[in-house]
Amino acid sequence: MISVAVAGAAGRMGQSVCRAVTEAPDMSLTGRADPALGVSVAEVLADADVLVDFTTPSTVVENARTAVAAGVHVVIGTSGFPVADLPGAAAGANVFFAPNFAIGAVLMMRFAAEAAPLMARAEIIELHHDGKLDKPSGTAARTAELMAQAAPDRPEVPIHSVRLPGLVAHQEVILGDLGQTLTIRHDSIDRESFMPGVLLAVRRVGGLSESPVVGLERLLF
Ligand code: NAP
Repeated sequence: MISVAVAGAAGRMGQSVCRAVTEAPDMSLTGRADPALGVSVAEVLADADVLVDFTTPSTVVENARTAVAAGVHVVIGTSGFPVADLPGAAAGANVFFAPNFAIGAVLMMRFAAEAAPLMARAEIIELHHDGKLDKPSGTAARTAELMAQAAPDRPEVPIHSVRLPGLVAHQEVILGDLGQTLTIRHDSIDRESFMPGVLLAVRRVGGLSESPVVGLERLLF
């Protein structure tokens, strides 16, 4: 059994993660940290093998540092922070971060990178619920980064952000060339879409051969 604590446990994503961990046959939920619950991250580490963090851009790095210093692996879904600030492995504990845990979004990023060198220009439109704190989304920033790596001679890929009630997490990559466009679109219509990826990362984070590792694609392909 893998003992899992969740930071941001009272938030939208944190509540879904707590449910998914409770229902997973090989995991037990040992701690729920959140200001709304009056429980700090430090208080849930003693019983945990893995901390899953879905908090805020301003708290995630400190939470990760606290966890690895205590020998607890960290799986991060929080976005909008400088990835370079993530701690490396310490006390035998690893860090894994995915800007998007949905398999469809990972495939969208992969297909966009594959298309980037073959079309003249591209732009990204990312659309999220109006409670999302960061802009542009971590997924859009990562998509643009992967496209730039695949096509270093192409113009930078602009990102447009939409925040509206009713949305969950959506992204379109539109590539344009003479007389044609190609649109690659992904929609997360429910937060359940992220849970298989989160559980996979919880199972794999302890066995990583380097740390931090960024991107669900690193565990899938
Ligand atoms: P949310 O509903 O605002 O939840 C965040 C929760 O974390 C809140 O309850 C917040 O409490 C709590 N929190 C703040 N500081 C904390 C700390 N130091 N320790 C423990 N808990 C703390 O946000 P959300 O919609 O769940 O999203 C959370 C993050 O996940 C965002 O960065 C979002 O972009 C990201 N996300 C990632 C993915 C992915 O696939 N990687 C998918 C969806 C969302 P207060 O409200 O009191 O501050």
